[in-house]
Amino acid sequence: MHETITATVLSSGSCGNSIFVSSEDAGVLIDAGLSCKETERRMSSFGFDPAMVKAIILTHEHTDHTRGVQRFCTKYEVPVYGTDGTLSLTPLDGIRMVSISSKDSVHVDRFMFKPFPIKHFAAEPVAFTVSIGSKKVAIASDLGSVTTRIVDEMKDSDLVLIESNYDDDMLMHGAYPDFLKRTIRSDHGHLSNEDAGLLASEAASERTRSVVLLHLSKENNTPDKARETVGGRLMRSHRHVRLEVTEHGGSNGPFRLG
Ligand SMILES: [Zn+2]
Ligand SMILES: [Zn+2]
Repeated sequence: MHETITATVLSSGSCGNSIFVSSEDAGVLIDAGLSCKETERRMSSFGFDPAMVKAIILTHEHTDHTRGVQRFCTKYEVPVYGTDGTLSLTPLDGIRMVSISSKDSVHVDRFMFKPFPIKHFAAEPVAFTVSIGSKKVAIASDLGSVTTRIVDEMKDSDLVLIESNYDDDMLMHGAYPDFLKRTIRSDHGHLSNEDAGLLASEAASERTRSVVLLHLSKENNTPDKARETVGGRLMRSHRHVRLEVTEHGGSNGPFRLG
């Protein structure tokens, strides 16, 4: 059977992160950082019925990724998947929890999720690739450094979604206190536009159609700067892919494969 996969960024940035991965009439939310109501509203605006959601899978416990989980899972009676570290620090009352580990792939409905470890100031954060049939989507947000493992896992994806959090000059000359600047720039913080460019050019391959940038900082980045830096890097590496930038708090997509 010919399967399709569609990834839709419902929201991205410190105000809330959520990506809906779907195929035909079913899907999974990767993070639920918007309120339940806003998640429903944004899904409907893309023509998706929230009842299509079979589960929520979490990358880590930060509120901008988990704000709507409790309400959404309760209302739609769906389970939440996450690493033990993530689940133990997310308020989840009366919700069915499924523990995942970066050692194993996990099937959620028709989707195969392959989690892999990333460094971020959270308990046990992961990024994922999601596959259905021969189609593969890679999603990595909220990570402070790029490792060979990350590049290897993300390679050969049809669609690559990565964080491009800050422009280093804007962050360094911006109003954030020094400790916060240090944390963000550390290998457990967030990816700069330069880092995102590096990851994008390493992870993109012949079969990659698009690279989608996520989690842009409102204070320390602009869509133009992210596009220029990552786009320049992709060009210098001779990676001819479409580059899509998601504005802070905005949605993007749907990106349909198949
Ligand atoms: Zn975040
Ligand atoms: Zn985070």
